[in-house]
Amino acid sequence: MPTYECPTCKKTHAVARREDAPFRPFCSERCKMVDLGRWLDGTYSISEPISPGDQNAPESQSSSEPE
Ligand SMILES: [Zn+2]
Repeated sequence: MPTYECPTCKKTHAVARREDAPFRPFCSERCKMVDLGRWLDGTYSISEPISPGDQNAPESQSSSEPE
């Protein structure tokens, strides 16, 4: 059974058929988007959050106090 390593999560995945791994070389769309986000380096933003708490939100700091 062919195997491949997902560049994002570094896990080795085995696929019986190419059709079983539509996101190769990534294991999932999530990993694909994560890598894409690194490539674009903020040029584009991922519309869907990877998972709650998985992303840092530097702009979400509470600075509601007036100066
Ligand atoms: Zn992966």
